[in-house]
Amino acid sequence: MAKTPRLMPTNPRLFRAQVVRSVRLTPSMHRVTVTGLDLHEFDHLGYDHWFRLFVQLPHQDAFELPELDGAKWWPPFLAIPEAVRPHCANYTVAAHRQDVGELDIDFVVHTGADGAPEGRAAIWACAAQPGDELAVLDQGRIFDCPPDASEVLVVAEETGLPGVVGIAASLPRDTVGRIIQEVPTAADVRDLDAPAGVTVTWVVREHEDPSAVPGTAALEELRRHTLSDDRGYAFVVGESTLATEGRRHLHRAGLPKSRITFSGFWKHEAKIRVDA
Ligand SMILES: Cc1cc2nc3c(=O)[nH]c(=O)nc-3n(C[C@H](O)[C@H](O)[C@H](O)COP(=O)(O)OP(=O)(O)OC[C@H]3O[C@@H](n4cnc5c(N)ncnc54)[C@H](O)[C@@H]3O)c2cc1C
Repeated sequence: MAKTPRLMPTNPRLFRAQVVRSVRLTPSMHRVTVTGLDLHEFDHLGYDHWFRLFVQLPHQDAFELPELDGAKWWPPFLAIPEAVRPHCANYTVAAHRQDVGELDIDFVVHTGADGAPEGRAAIWACAAQPGDELAVLDQGRIFDCPPDASEVLVVAEETGLPGVVGIAASLPRDTVGRIIQEVPTAADVRDLDAPAGVTVTWVVREHEDPSAVPGTAALEELRRHTLSDDRGYAFVVGESTLATEGRRHLHRAGLPKSRITFSGFWKHEAKIRVDA
C-alpha cells in the first residue's frame, strides 16, 4: 500500500470503543456505529482518513488487546498468542461525530464462490451487537493532492467508497475533476457532496458484468477518460489490479508518478474449483 508518512500521525493513538448500532446501509454496505470514552478526541482529518480496526474473532471468548499506541504497534500485536489475538483489518472513517464521540464504519459485504459471507471484518460487522468491543488505531490520510493540481481524478470500487464520500465532501469547493466510482448494484449508489466542478460517474457492475472482479469496470471507464494536461492529481484505490493497472495507465497517459496516489486495498484471489 502506498504510504504518505507526512499525513500519518507520528504517534498513532489507539481508541477503545463499543458498538452502538449496526444497520444495512445499502445492499452491499453494512454500517457499524461505535462510541468510546475518548472518541471525541479522535482528530478527524476528513478526506479518506483510515485506521486499523481490531475485532474479536468468532472462536474467541473475549476481546483482548494490550495497549498498542505508537508507530511500533505491529511487533507487540504479533506477540499476542494467536488463539486470543484479535483480527486486524483496514477501514475508513465513514463519519465522525465529535460532539457525541461516535464513528461510523462502512463494511463492504461480500460472499465467496459458494455464496457464503466472506471477510472476517465484514462477518463481524454483520453480526455486531450493541456493546461489542473493538479498537481503532488512527492512521491518518492517504489522499495527498498537490496544491497546484489542475484537476483531481478519483477512481475506486466499493471498498474505496467510504473514502470517496469523505474526499468529495472535503475537497475545496472550486476543485475541478472527476470521480469514477464502481458499485455492485444500482441501489448502492449514494449522494456525494462533491464540488460543482467535479463530475461523478457511477459505474454499476450489475449493468456490466455482475460476475467481474470488482474494479474491472472502473478501470475500463478510467481508460476511456481523457486527462486535461499533466498537472492533475489522481487517486486510484480498491482491488489490487485496479490500483496498479490504473496507475500504469495514467502514467502512460502522461501523468507523472508523483501525481498519482494508488493503493491496493485487497487482492482478488482466483477461486480454483476442484471437482470431485
Ligand atoms: C486504507 C484502507 C481503507 C479501507 N477502507 C475500507 C472501508 O472503509 N470499507 C471496506 O469495506 N473496506 C475497506 N478497505 C478494504 C478492506 O481492508 C479489505 O477488503 C479487507 O480485506 C477486509 O478485511 P477482512 O478481514 O474482512 O477480509 P479477509 O478476511 O482478510 O479476506 C477474506 C477474503 O475476502 C476477500 N475480500 C476482501 N475484501 C473483499 C471485497 N471487498 N470484495 C470481495 N472479496 C474481498 C479477500 O481477497 C479474501 O479472499 C480498506 C483498505 C485500506 C488499505
